[in-house]
Amino acid sequence: MIPGARLIILGRQGAGKGTQCVRLSRHFVVPHISTGDMLRASVREGSELGRMAKKVMDSGGLVGDDIMVGIVEERLNHGDARTRGYILDGFPRTVPQAIALDDITTERPIHCVIDLDVPREMVLRRISSRRVCRDCGTNYVAADTEKHQWICEVCGGEVLQRDDDTPEAINRRLDLYEEQTSPLIEHYGADGRLVVVDGVASPDLVFLRLIAAVEAARRPG
Ligand code: ADP
Repeated sequence: MIPGARLIILGRQGAGKGTQCVRLSRHFVVPHISTGDMLRASVREGSELGRMAKKVMDSGGLVGDDIMVGIVEERLNHGDARTRGYILDGFPRTVPQAIALDDITTERPIHCVIDLDVPREMVLRRISSRRVCRDCGTNYVAADTEKHQWICEVCGGEVLQRDDDTPEAINRRLDLYEEQTSPLIEHYGADGRLVVVDGVASPDLVFLRLIAAVEAARRPG
């Protein structure tokens, strides 16, 4: 267990980031903060933010930086994140978000930024067969691309294909990743906090690589 670890996991859509973050959060007993999950919760609640975010998400676009920074800043001030640390998943996604995060975290800086690396050609197929529990976010893989409806093994929620997992929206998200998110690799690489983890392997092996990367980053000296 690593008390107070503050981590960012970067990576393309479909790299297995969400599932690995859930596992890491259980392993290290730190909260998993997923901006995508937070926005989807707002969509379900039908709040004003949710209505706005749904349009942007369904088209594969990005919600505005100021809104996202506000949501994350508020969440990082909760007691659990202040004392236990956190795993940020889906944030930052643009250089302005990363700069704002540096400002928010000057007193308690991020220890380690992991880029879970899976090439673009490999993630496209994975996303089209992805199914997600709408309640707890557990990911499943469909045997084919039909819209089966399942019940989640973890919480009994409905397992569906995400509205933004259409081929058009996926391609737009991947383009935006190259344009807006991949520059973060340089941003964090410059100050030595970046670790690249090869995400092309079985989920269990990738998980072991991630644990090793976090432990190496948190070892004193
Ligand atoms: P994926 O990694 O498959 O794109 P996420 O669950 O991380 O999925 O995010 C879903 C959608 O939520 C994104 O496509 C985007 O519209 C919005 N979103 C999530 N996080 C951010 C962020 N940090 N900045 C802007 N938009 C975001």
